[in-house]
Amino acid sequence: MNTKQKRNKKQHLIKTYGSKCWWCQEGLPENKLTIDHLVPKSHKGSNSLENLRLACLPCNNDRGNSLYPPKAKPINFPQKYQFLAILLLGSLLKNQIAK
Ligand SMILES: [Zn+2]
Repeated sequence: MNTKQKRNKKQHLIKTYGSKCWWCQEGLPENKLTIDHLVPKSHKGSNSLENLRLACLPCNNDRGNSLYPPKAKPINFPQKYQFLAILLLGSLLKNQIAK
């Protein structure tokens, strides 16, 4: 793939899957996303769009030439949702005690 083909494929992948990492779902700007081969080139994976996904650098590096997904990255749970989760858990526990 030359640079122009790569850029076109990236644009197409962003339109199809959104501007985020296929593996960890992290939303990233285009320049932070890399093109990842589902079936790596070393395993005779093709450069066709069905075999291409967008990945952040850590996920892409983690996969390397593997056929498997990257190790799961810890989810960054936003603070405000953490607070909600604690509230919810608290009210559930209270209900349990009331019973
Ligand atoms: Zn990722």
